[in-house]
Amino acid sequence: MTEQLSTRVQALELPMTIEMSKKSRELAAKGVDVISLSLGEPDFDTPDFIKEAAIEGIHQNYSHYMPVPGFTDLREAIAAKFKRDNHLTYGVDQIIVSTGAKQTLANLMLSLIEPGDEVIIPAPYWVSYLDMVKFCEGVPVVVESSIETGYKITPEQLEASITDKSKLMIFSSPNNPSGAMYSESELEGLARVLRKYPNIFVISDEIYELIQYGYKHTSIASLDGMYDRTATVNGLSKGFAMTGWRIGYMGAPAWVAKACDKVQSQFTSGTNSIAQRAAIAAVSTEPSQIQYMIDAFTERRTKMLNWLGSLPGFRTSNPEGAFYVFAEISELIGKSFNGKVIENDMDLCIYFLEEGHVSSVPGSAFGLPGHIRFSYAASISELEEAYKRLAVAIDNLSA
Ligand code: PMP
Repeated sequence: MTEQLSTRVQALELPMTIEMSKKSRELAAKGVDVISLSLGEPDFDTPDFIKEAAIEGIHQNYSHYMPVPGFTDLREAIAAKFKRDNHLTYGVDQIIVSTGAKQTLANLMLSLIEPGDEVIIPAPYWVSYLDMVKFCEGVPVVVESSIETGYKITPEQLEASITDKSKLMIFSSPNNPSGAMYSESELEGLARVLRKYPNIFVISDEIYELIQYGYKHTSIASLDGMYDRTATVNGLSKGFAMTGWRIGYMGAPAWVAKACDKVQSQFTSGTNSIAQRAAIAAVSTEPSQIQYMIDAFTERRTKMLNWLGSLPGFRTSNPEGAFYVFAEISELIGKSFNGKVIENDMDLCIYFLEEGHVSSVPGSAFGLPGHIRFSYAASISELEEAYKRLAVAIDNLSA
């Protein structure tokens, strides 16, 4: 038959993060020793106490269909976590567990966006927000930040982006790709604007909450007047090194949770039962249990900022959280190698991959061209080697 894909799917793009990983794997398959700094996942294994909880779950025969929004005891443990870490009181009926925060976000957007609704997305943003919004026939309204404001938008910028069609705002703090974390007073600045527009709902993606460097994480839902109009999204992939387990969750007003439950019941049902048993152990843990990972990230962050900051043409900010350095590289645009001009950040990423054998992701994937994201979820020796290769690659560019 003729290929007749829906326009919705045809408009969907593959995330550039996945494209870059594919390119670097292809090069590695040819025997090239590529240092991969393009992926967004911790290089640690899942902690043993979480693995043990999963094994116990298998022995206890958690092998049947489970409630769509998640096991009640897991949702109780998540409610306790929200109270302990975020000063948020959610009842079990306000919590939905999903197959990764990605599904949590998809559930929310499918539940909330009407065709033509405007969705405010501060840039740089996580790759999938934009495509999810478009898939739901919403209209993304991208608000760009810059290195000058530490990659955070200002209340004035937020207010200027609001129209009578504004329905949602989606942001992550700590941010992927910039690592920026909004302080309580910065969030209060945004909340002050949002209070004037009660019809705008907020999706606050806090999946990097535990990975931060001496700063205080604040959930926007904990600020005056925000609780009833915010979904607080989180998950286990980053903080607990559990990307493959696929556990995401949210706390939200009951009417939103009910809608997400309905969407999930038709598309996937409850998420993997064994992963849910493991999740109870993870969310019930004091953050100190994973401090060894944060300590390792802290050391790498300091080194990466020194190394990358010293490269000609690189400007770096002060990422408060996550495990990325988002480097401003616009000075390198227009330079050339073997007569081929580097026209944009994508060209530079490909040049670094092909000539320096270091993979990274262009800022344009995150809505902010002129930048490159490097993950430092890699060993110090790999990071140092990557830095040396980048230094040579930059040196080989001509003006
Ligand atoms: N939000 C952000 C900001 C992310 O970086 C990611 C993963 N890269 C996710 C959500 C999705 O995480 P997961 O589906 O693994 O829970």
